[in-house]
Amino acid sequence: MYSFEYHRAETVEETLKLGSVLEDARFLAGGQSLIPMMKLRFAKADNIIDLRDLDELRGIEVAHDIVSIGAMARHAEVAASPKVQSAIPALAGLAGGIGDPMVRARGTMGGSIANADPAACYPAACLALGATINTTGGDIEADDFFQGVFETALGEGALVTGAEFPVPDAAAYKKFRHPASRFALAGIFVARFGDLVRVGVTGAGRQGAYRWIEAEDALTENFAVNALDGLHADPSQMNSDIHGDEPYRAHLVEVMTRRAVLNASAHCGDE
Ligand SMILES: Cc1cc2nc3c(=O)[nH]c(=O)nc-3n(C[C@H](O)[C@H](O)[C@H](O)COP(=O)(O)OP(=O)(O)OC[C@H]3O[C@@H](n4cnc5c(N)ncnc54)[C@H](O)[C@@H]3O)c2cc1C
Repeated sequence: MYSFEYHRAETVEETLKLGSVLEDARFLAGGQSLIPMMKLRFAKADNIIDLRDLDELRGIEVAHDIVSIGAMARHAEVAASPKVQSAIPALAGLAGGIGDPMVRARGTMGGSIANADPAACYPAACLALGATINTTGGDIEADDFFQGVFETALGEGALVTGAEFPVPDAAAYKKFRHPASRFALAGIFVARFGDLVRVGVTGAGRQGAYRWIEAEDALTENFAVNALDGLHADPSQMNSDIHGDEPYRAHLVEVMTRRAVLNASAHCGDE
């Protein structure tokens, strides 16, 4: 790890001010992505600004069929929240299936969204639920926020402050997990709002998380597993690495989508 200066602020305002004056500064939330990257020297910063004291970025609220989660909510807090479990059990299940207990105790929702790891779970939920990402530079729709592998629409020096998730009529997240890290080789979040269905895919796409529009159209027509018969994920759009090649990931997307639809019909949050 390269050496760096460590800073801590108590308000969002102070944090942004620090970020604007310090050279080569990066925010630190749960450290579950940034610290391993720094240890491996894949990431470097002269200044680290810790967000841990920003109480204004914590909290989970449900009002008017919207679940609002503060950026600094830990995965374990989201998983254990009775409010999330009751409003969007699939989202609580997703958070409860991230990594291991240590990762869930430290990692944050905002960190996951800001990082936009192509195998992270939250981006699939944000896309399928049509979430709004709250940032210090304004609100950004999830469809516009995720722009590729580790690429987002978050402005330079801006913070993710939270996310708002509309409560669906039914939803499920199904992940084919890497057996060691539990990151998604393919993770599918299916959400139904009335007749309208949205499908968020993570782990599989070459360009990061994406919506599978053909599946959405088929499921909006008929919300049933057999509506997906004959529909194929395009291998040329899939990621390939030592864990799985393009055809394998395309197959996983198809299988996990079917499983998610099956579960969503019972509004089941099982991951
Ligand atoms: C062993 C292991 C297994 C894992 N398994 C999974 C898994 O199954 N599914 C999954 O989704 N993830 C998994 N993760 C990743 C984990 O969920 C991370 O916690 C998450 O990706 C990043 O959140 P963090 O709070 O730790 O962010 P950090 O690591 O602190 O930060 C990550 C990046 O986001 C930026 N950032 C953080 N917060 C903000 C903010 N509020 N505003 C702007 N920028 C911000 C930082 O500057 C940094 O660039 C795993 C990680 C590990 C180590």
